[in-house]
Amino acid sequence: MIKFKAKFALIFMLIIVLILGACTPQTGVNVTTLTKNPDQTQQPSEEKKPEEDKEIEIPVPQVDYQAIKANENGQVMLLMYHGISNKEDEWVRTPDNFRKDLEVLYQQGYRLITLKDYLDNNIKVEAGYTPVVITFDDGLQNQFNIIEENGEKKIDPDCAVGIMEEFKKKHPDFGQGGTFFVYYSVPFRQKELIKEKYDFLINNGYEIGNHTYTHENLGKESAEGVQKALALNVKYTQEYLPGYDVFALALPYGIAPKDEKFQYAVTGEYEGIKYNNRAILRVGSNPAPAPNHVKYDTTRLPRVRASELNTGGVGMYDYLASFEKHPDKKYISDGNPDTIVIPEEEKENISNDRVGDKQLITYKK
Ligand SMILES: [Zn+2]
Repeated sequence: MIKFKAKFALIFMLIIVLILGACTPQTGVNVTTLTKNPDQTQQPSEEKKPEEDKEIEIPVPQVDYQAIKANENGQVMLLMYHGISNKEDEWVRTPDNFRKDLEVLYQQGYRLITLKDYLDNNIKVEAGYTPVVITFDDGLQNQFNIIEENGEKKIDPDCAVGIMEEFKKKHPDFGQGGTFFVYYSVPFRQKELIKEKYDFLINNGYEIGNHTYTHENLGKESAEGVQKALALNVKYTQEYLPGYDVFALALPYGIAPKDEKFQYAVTGEYEGIKYNNRAILRVGSNPAPAPNHVKYDTTRLPRVRASELNTGGVGMYDYLASFEKHPDKKYISDGNPDTIVIPEEEKENISNDRVGDKQLITYKK
């Protein structure tokens, strides 16, 4: 009896091995077809006819929208930073706290995108992840500081750019981005290094935005004053970066030009220099609507304060906690920038103009 059992088990195992053996090459083919890597799809076997290749349909990996809670009409945090320095303050994050912010965002499923990608509704983060935008105001030296070590110039590892670069190396899948809203005369406060820093920024996925010419309070300016403040910023940025598109404005003090002068925050001209702000960012408040949302308004984009101090307002950690509790409120990507996936009930909040050529997919929660 025991012998019979052992024999049976042996035959059974043999069958399993045979099945597995037959399956393995098949699985391999499927995987290589999916990756679309030309090096891998070239099969060594000669009998395969080239016509067959053309007929192979590449299966699109199926994303379970319900499981990942896809919602591409949820809120997006546009984070607002100022200084990165040793003493934590209302407008200052210490280097270690900034590192912690990035780590927490990363661990909680946030992925960095550029402000431009947000405005273009071109959000390319993996399925199940939430986009986040990081912005810095004022062009302080501790945002981008270059130091000399043994006669060699290097990025200060404790400045914002140094910290972000180090983080990117550790977590390449975090994404890249960061918009620096600068004013003049010396953005980042090292006069002889402005050009070098600007080149580094635009070559490494960062953006440079308008924070007026000399940090003017636009609420107090005349129509001409507003246009001068914004056009001169563009003029000087383009002196360092010819042709660079200064596409967004962060309002100094969060104050916009009054009444009919507001139009000059968006577009205007001064002494032949034209500007066009595709986005106007306010000083910290709440997360911004998704680019597909009916409430999306580029002339008043709210930003979230990246701060932990209880200064009467709410900051990034409050929203992180709130999104943990109510994940349906935040933007969750389906992984495909060409489709807009939302739960059915979100449909009434979708702006069809913004969806444009993209495919709108709804699903039952
Ligand atoms: Zn400012």
